Amino acid sequence: MAILSIGSRGPEVVTLQQELNRQLYPSPRLSPDGIFGGLTRTAVRAFQRDAGLKVDGLVGPMTRAALGMPDTGRPFTHRVRLHFRSISLTDVPFNSILAHTQAVYAPYGIKIEFGSGSSLMLSRDEQDRLTQVDGACKWQVTGGEYAELQQLGGPTPGSGVLVYYIDRFGEALNGCGGHMNNRPACVVARAGTHYCTAHEVCHVLLGSTFSPVHIGDASNNLMHPVDFVRSARPVLTDLQVQRIKASPLCEAI
Ligand SMILES: [Zn+2]
Repeated sequence: MAILSIGSRGPEVVTLQQELNRQLYPSPRLSPDGIFGGLTRTAVRAFQRDAGLKVDGLVGPMTRAALGMPDTGRPFTHRVRLHFRSISLTDVPFNSILAHTQAVYAPYGIKIEFGSGSSLMLSRDEQDRLTQVDGACKWQVTGGEYAELQQLGGPTPGSGVLVYYIDRFGEALNGCGGHMNNRPACVVARAGTHYCTAHEVCHVLLGSTFSPVHIGDASNNLMHPVDFVRSARPVLTDLQVQRIKASPLCEAI
């Protein structure tokens, strides 16, 4: 996979310019001429800033995935839609979370799409109570504050996974992939790292019967049991990818 940068030319640069026009500007500003010049670099940097990525003007794996460009040269084969719901209109960095989640799945041909995002518009009382979600993180949520939270935010619009952002959990957790039957959802706390959402969404996609649930070796697998700050983009095993692609939440495209 080539990193696109100033001076790059070719059909991939055309795709890049088209995506920048689509996502960054309301109307085309770059002429899709396939030549990566100063204007394209300025647009890439603006996009990286918005997405919470390193602002270097280079189009590597993270930026490609965040722009919806696969980084293998092959097109995406599958799609997962995420619906973000936050307890309040606080400072949840959705763009950055989305960009990092997209970058994890892109090498496997899986496109992570932004389905919808909204605040739950809770009453003051509800907000005070659910700012910390108490109870145990279980595969199957049947009651308590997890259930209360995950029933909020309306029906899942179309297909996809709901991701709830809270302030903190009662347990020492950064996220929980457990959810109610027929309501694919997960919860992420403010302390979650850039890749915490990708990890919890992965639990939902793998389902309760997949084993091993976590992989704690040195392979930098996404499903490491600890949500630690990583120096490299986490990876998935072939078996994990197979199961994710077989999930009803992962559409073939
Ligand atoms: Zn986990």
